[in-house]
Parts: sequence; C-alpha cells; structure tokens
Amino acid sequence: MQIKIVLKKIESYNKDADFDLVKKAYLFAKKHHGSQKRRSGELFIQHPLNVAYILAEHRLGPTTIAAALLHDVIEDTDVDKKEIVNEFGQEIANIIDGVTKITKLRKMSFEEYKAETVRKVILASTKDLRVIFIKLADKLHNMRTVGCFRQEKCERIAREVLDVYAPIAYKLGIASIKWELEDLAFKYLEPEIYRDLNKKLRKSQKQRDVEVVHIEEVLKKEMNDHKIKSRISGRSKHLYSIYKKMLRKDKPFSDIYDIVGLRIITESVKDCYEIMGIIHGLWTPVPKEFDDYIAMPKSNMYQSLHIVVIGPDKKPVEIQIRTKDMHRVAEDGVAAHWRYKGVHGDDKFDKKLSWMKQVMEWQQESKDAKEFMEMLHIDFFESEIFTFTPRGRVIELPKGATILDFAYAVHSDVGDKTIAAKVNGHFVPVRTMLKNGDKVEIITAKNQHPSRSWLKIARTSRAQSRIKKHLRSIQDIPVKTIRSDQSVKKELEAWIIEVDGILNPEIIVAKCCSPLPGEDITGYATSNGKVTIHKKKCGTLKKIKVGSRKKEAKVRWTNKIGSVVEIKVEAVNRTGLFAEILNTLVSLNTQIKSTSAHAIGKESVECTFAMETTGIEHLQDIIKRIKRIKDVKKVYVGNLVH
Ligand code: MN
Repeated sequence: MQIKIVLKKIESYNKDADFDLVKKAYLFAKKHHGSQKRRSGELFIQHPLNVAYILAEHRLGPTTIAAALLHDVIEDTDVDKKEIVNEFGQEIANIIDGVTKITKLRKMSFEEYKAETVRKVILASTKDLRVIFIKLADKLHNMRTVGCFRQEKCERIAREVLDVYAPIAYKLGIASIKWELEDLAFKYLEPEIYRDLNKKLRKSQKQRDVEVVHIEEVLKKEMNDHKIKSRISGRSKHLYSIYKKMLRKDKPFSDIYDIVGLRIITESVKDCYEIMGIIHGLWTPVPKEFDDYIAMPKSNMYQSLHIVVIGPDKKPVEIQIRTKDMHRVAEDGVAAHWRYKGVHGDDKFDKKLSWMKQVMEWQQESKDAKEFMEMLHIDFFESEIFTFTPRGRVIELPKGATILDFAYAVHSDVGDKTIAAKVNGHFVPVRTMLKNGDKVEIITAKNQHPSRSWLKIARTSRAQSRIKKHLRSIQDIPVKTIRSDQSVKKELEAWIIEVDGILNPEIIVAKCCSPLPGEDITGYATSNGKVTIHKKKCGTLKKIKVGSRKKEAKVRWTNKIGSVVEIKVEAVNRTGLFAEILNTLVSLNTQIKSTSAHAIGKESVECTFAMETTGIEHLQDIIKRIKRIKDVKKVYVGNLVH
C-alpha cells in the first residue's frame, strides 16, 4: 500500500479534503515506526496505511484517516499523547488514545485485560465514534494478515473478533466489515469446515449464476413494463452466515447454499412495495420468510424488504428490495450517517447508539471480566426478536429473552415491579420466553421487588445489572414487612357471613369440611366470641355436637356475594405463582377487574383479585382450583378463610 493510493481514494469522494493533514500524519507515522517490521517481514507502516485505506473505502473524512495513520504510534513507538496534541491537536490525540490498548497491570488475567481494553474502546467510542471505526479497520487488517502468527495466537485473535468486533460492526450497521471479519475468524477457528464449505460454494457457483441470470431477465422485463427504475444483482454468500444458518435451521449445506440470493435497488419506498407485488404475482411467495424491515428497521438502521419465492426453477429465491439510501446504510451503517452528519448526530442517530452507553452502564457494575465478555456476547450476538408494547412500541430483544427482559427494556421501574404479563392476551409468568411478534403487557404491583431468583430468568445485561443493583441496595437491610397479618385481617371486613346475636364475631371456616360460599352452613359459637362455620351435613360436626357445650349460632351467607367479588390468596412467594393464579382464573372464564400483590414478611405474598363471577358455583370452582395451585396457603373470600 502506498500513501498516494490512499490519497487518490479520498479524492474520489472528497476533492476538498485536507490532503496536507493526511500527508503530514503519514510522514510522522513513517518516521516514528522507522524500520519496525511486522511479523510477515514487511515494514510496519504498511499496517496503518492499509487501515487508512479501508477507512477511505468507507469514505470517511481526513481527520479519521489521519488518526488511522497515527493509530499505533502511542502504543508501539516512543511518541506520547502530548506530542500528538502538539503536532495534530487535541481531537486527533483523543481518537488515537481511545484506540490504544490499556497498560497491562501485572495482576490482570488475560480475560480481564481483554475486557478492560474493550471497555476502554467502547467508552472512548461513546465520546467519539471515529475511535470504533479505526478499531474495526485495524482488526480487519490484522485478520487479513494474521496468518503469520502461530495457530494458538490466531485462534485467540479470531475468537475476540468473532465475540466482540464483528458484533460491534453489526450493531453499527457496517455490514461489509462485519462479513469479512466473520469469514476470516471462521477460517481460523474452523479451518476444515471453512475449506469444505468454500469448495462446495465455488463448485455450485456456476449453476447459481445461470439461475440468477434467468431470474434477472424475467425481472428486468417486468420492471421495464411497469416503468420502474431498478438495479438487479446477484448477492454474494458469506461462508460464516451459511454456516450459522445451517446450525440454526439444522439443515445440510446443500439446502442452504443452493438458495439463490438477489438484490433489487430502486428509487423510492413506493417502488419497493410495488416490486414486491410484481414478484409475488410472478412466483409463489413463502409467507413465513417475509420480513418488512422498511416498516420496522433493525436497531442498526438497516432497512429492506426480505422475501422468499419459489422461483422459475422451482427452487427458493431470496430477494432483498431496498432504495439507494437504504442500500448505503445497509453497507456502511453508522459510518454512512457519520459522513453526512459529522460529530454532532441528530437525536434519532444518538438513540441508535444508546446501546453503547448501556453497555458502559452495566459494565461498570460487573467486576468479573469473564462475565462481562459473556454478557457482551449475548447482547451483541444473539439474533434479535421484535416484540411490542400494547401501544405498539417496538421492543427489540435477543433471542431467548424473557418477560423480565422486556419489562426492563420498557423501563427500569417497570422491570422492578413486574409480577407477570399478558402475552397475546394470555397471562404468563415472568420466566416466559418471548417470540418474534409477541404483544406484551406487563403486570406490575406497587410492592413488588426484584429477587435473587430473577438473575436466572433475565438474559439481557440491562435487566441483569438492574436486578443486581437492587439486590445490592437492599443488602443488610431486612426486607420490609409490608403489612402485618393483623392489618390483613382488618381489610377483610367485607363480611359475607352474618351471625345472629354476636357482635363482630371472629369467623373460622372449619377445616374438616371447608364450606364454600353458597353451600348449606351452620355455625358454632365458642365462649371467646369465635364462630366456626361447618357444612350442615359435616360428619365431624355431628360428633362435636354430642356432649359439646358450644352453642349453635344462626349463620347465613349475606347478599354481598354480588357479581363482583374480591379474593385474596396467601402463598409462598415464588416466581410464576401470580401468573398461575391468573391463568387459573382465565381458564374458568373469569373477568378480572384488577389485581395487586403485596409481600407479607420475607417469604409470603398476598395476591388480590377483583373479578366478576357468574354465581356461587363459579366462585366455588375458583376457590377449589386456586387451592390446588402449589404453594398456595390460604384463600380469602370476604371474611372467609379457605
Ligand atoms: Mn493497529
């Protein structure tokens, strides 16, 4: 690589660029790297030159490219940051400092060192995005030339690229860098599979080319007939994505790499949908394989229509349809946006980068380097699902995310108070995994708090860090008793049994027969003002009667068992309980008016449900069924304890 080639590349998209700055940076780097050599034997300066060229290919500005030329001088020569400030100013010095590895402390494990370096790069990138552009180009060139290192080191570098940098490139929407990083890492990590796949792909290429040409001809004619301007091209397949798809769909190579991929680039959004309509008229669509990323862009701003049709050769054809602008973003992502908006992005753009800030937020709380890398992997790498709030807000989550992850993604306060959710109209416990397209309504309770068991349920780093934060905040402080048993009783003064002749009796439902509302009952008064309620035909009662000095009390159900009833359930506080009760109620066709839950002491919870019942029998069913749920201790209906 030569500096004049880099300059020529810059000139091709920016004639007014500050070429002197780029040249000065080159000469400075060349002087200080001097006769340093890379492992391959070539001069070290070749590395920053190539990194600069990659960035020029992505049409980045002269400041970024100058910083790229200088990116290794602090790390690998005796130049310090102060000197860079003097020569090139604070802006460039800060970018280079962000790219520079941390100083390795002796105590650090390799994992810790890696995690700390990533942390530093991400932190610097939240302040200036150009840091990550340079880091990605740096990794890309290193991967292209890594072959000269020994196997073990190659694998280590490849692993880091696959776990950290390729996902970052994806998150930033820089597709071309992401693909290449992945394919190169794949080559070092799974050399045999890579070679085999590569061979098969080349072998089948001719056949696919023939098919592409055939489809292209048909489409071109159609586009002309409909007077739609468009460019049709075959799509190159990336080995690593084929491999991943194979694993995901559990299918052999032949099923995946035989699929023809096409891309149609057109002028307007309207054209995109029109083209889709035309194609669907020509060939049979595969409905499950339709994705509208135009209406619902990915978090990295990617937009496109993805359709699959059974093409003229009776084989599936994957087609992407997008506008020119969308194509630009699809290839360069944030970098494309950067070119136009510069340092100060607009709000929408900043929001798209908020994941970086989030990563920083929870990373500061995670002291364990290994855990940090694992979480980074889940958040970045797992494919996304789209879920919705009742109002239609899109919540993006990694695959395998649960109700808790959703709740925390909506808002931290919502997460903390979650007791269950309604997914597509059905009540589910917090551990439920969400699927693409799920509509989720979170059910909260004022007195709910995160518990340790939630850490096993939450998958996203956001939820994890919030739960941990809460657990730490309550450490050493005993869990507050929200309400004592005494006050619970007081609230149950909605009498549903009347007793003649005794003022405010304490009513106890006999355990021997447990009468349900509406059943024939009789009461027995004891001397201390308590009344026990039995079924009229209770066998135990008959035995007590003989020789007992207890007095019979006249009792009856009041008319207060109206159509709306409130029941309270006391149970062991465990995950999923609330949803189980809700589901039981729903399965009995109960209309629920309101719900709440309160912790009682450390282990118990009291859940309250106001509901419409269709009558006594319905209420009886409800009580019976709820009592059968595991960990339920008591069911209160009015002053009646079951
Ligand atoms: Mn470098």
